[in-house]
Amino acid sequence: MLVAVLGGGQLGRMLGLAGIPLGLRSRFLDPSPDAPARAVGELVVGAFDDPDALEEVARGADVVTYEFENVPAASARALAGRAPVLPPPEALEAAQDRLAEKRLFERCGIPVAPYVPVDREEDLPGAIEALGLPAVLKARRLGYDGKGQAVVRSAQDAGPAWAAVGAAPSILEALVPFERELSVLAVRGRDGEVRVYPVVENVHRGGVLRVSRAPAPDLPEGLGEAASAYVRRALEALGYVGVLAIELFQAGGELLANEMAPRVHNSGHWTIEGAATSQFENHLRAILGLPLGAAEARGQAAMVNLIGRLPDPSRLLAVPGAHLHVYGKSPRPGRKLGHVTVLAPDRETLEERLAEVLRAVGEAGS
Ligand code: AMP
Repeated sequence: MLVAVLGGGQLGRMLGLAGIPLGLRSRFLDPSPDAPARAVGELVVGAFDDPDALEEVARGADVVTYEFENVPAASARALAGRAPVLPPPEALEAAQDRLAEKRLFERCGIPVAPYVPVDREEDLPGAIEALGLPAVLKARRLGYDGKGQAVVRSAQDAGPAWAAVGAAPSILEALVPFERELSVLAVRGRDGEVRVYPVVENVHRGGVLRVSRAPAPDLPEGLGEAASAYVRRALEALGYVGVLAIELFQAGGELLANEMAPRVHNSGHWTIEGAATSQFENHLRAILGLPLGAAEARGQAAMVNLIGRLPDPSRLLAVPGAHLHVYGKSPRPGRKLGHVTVLAPDRETLEERLAEVLRAVGEAGS
């Protein structure tokens, strides 16, 4: 069977890798001839809105999926006549517009931070008045990893914040004094079967994920069940098929949804070694209509992103339980070049091993 993937980054590469033991072939569409997924399948080089390139990547495919959420929804829709496009393009559309995403969460009874839509600069003073400060202005479209947003602490920040988000339709959102950031990943099959992975704790720096711990340590009672209920409701509402990630804030003993990703997710990389079935394998199983695999954790896991430069592998791999993943990208500041997952039978050992990994990576504790 042939899986067509829009996007050929590291997520595509890990999807392709997961498909090999299942006997699958993968074909990727990416604008870059150096796309990391070229190592694990065929690569079509072209723009995501190039009709000829879309035609070429989908030719003969049993299913079309994506690994990049800024693929134009129109491109995903255009392919829907040739092969099933999963997750459904509606999920892509909701994830591409912060306002639509908030409304989806609200429809599903998933709590979110208070917010006000801001369509024009003139709406901003009224929005600040209605919401109070501090707040964060976020462009509705094409923002990820903290891009396209600006914190508003006083009325004087309004003009610069509007400029910082590109003077584009936005939402103003209350700044949440969260205790920590979490995420929940789940997979839904074509037949509606759902498996939910354990909640993950995520530590970001500069808006970019640095470290994940799974299962999230010391999760207050009831929050795991709440996260699971929320992601299940979103999956049902979207008639979703594949892996869905929801990023959450833990604040005041509650969970607030921040955003979702309609694809495999960086905070799920630990599942390759740390869960009964990896997010990549389960995504493929789901979109192909195969039975899903168990999502339970196998002990404790932590994942460290390798950003900007790659460490000495011999030092890293000397850490017991450590697994290195290198994406085949050329080094550049701020670029995700790989990740390390470290496993341990218990929390204490995990923290010791994680500290060793962070030393090998050249980072202080996270
Ligand atoms: P986002 O692009 O929405 O994922 O935001 C990037 C990061 O900014 C998040 O991971 C948080 O660390 C921070 N952030 C976003 N929204 C809020 C908020 N309403 N309150 C506090 N921090 C936020």
